[in-house]
Amino acid sequence: MRILSLKYNCLEAIPPDIGRLRKLKYLALTNNRLQIHSLPYTLAFCSKLKTILLDNNQLDALPGFLLEMPGIETVHRHGNHNYFKSTFMWYHTDVDFRIIPTSGTNVLPATSPDMLQFLAAKTIIGTRKDFFNDPDVAGILKDYIADIYSLFNVCSHCNGVTRTYLKGFKVITFKNPYLGNTCVPFMHWTCSLECAKALEVPARQEQIKAAYMLDSMYEQYIVDCQRQFGSRHQPGFTCPCISSEDNTRSCTIL
Ligand SMILES: [Zn+2]
Repeated sequence: MRILSLKYNCLEAIPPDIGRLRKLKYLALTNNRLQIHSLPYTLAFCSKLKTILLDNNQLDALPGFLLEMPGIETVHRHGNHNYFKSTFMWYHTDVDFRIIPTSGTNVLPATSPDMLQFLAAKTIIGTRKDFFNDPDVAGILKDYIADIYSLFNVCSHCNGVTRTYLKGFKVITFKNPYLGNTCVPFMHWTCSLECAKALEVPARQEQIKAAYMLDSMYEQYIVDCQRQFGSRHQPGFTCPCISSEDNTRSCTIL
């Protein structure tokens, strides 16, 4: 399957099995009820994915794992504006708000999960490797992992995996990753404050560096424009754009 459209389905979550679609190039999830935790990390296994449409959902940021998918060229995320806006307001200006402790779901598991199969699955999930495409992982174990995948939060920095009812840290980073996109907030989850800082600090330094680079490019552009404008518009020269003889012409700076 190369193209999958799930538009207008009131979906609140995408199943981890999405990671089985290795040939997927185009994924449309427009007009659903997806939140940041609705998109499983297994989507990162779809290494051929180029376009993902997330318009009109309830995302307050894009999932951080999208940054690990260099093949993605287009991410549409319009219609999540109000949710993105709140993230920007709280986290964009103050770095202290970019690492937020989370309380977990506080829903305790009904039964003890300490079976060997459960522990094996947990370890495999923590590696963040494509277990669906790994011949060393038995088919029955793949199905089992897909079934229990949503029970876990996976650390974006180390191989830590914890149950969703346990505490962790939400980390916000900002980047201009896609053509035509402005600065976009990304959300990651980490198992500890150390992992959160290890993720947030370099991302922030990269953001500052990119902003300086953009500023200097803009300043150079202004200097170039002024130089060209000055060379074309000598003293006493009447610009064609304001000439009464031909008011259809516009002043073009080459
Ligand atoms: Zn960690």
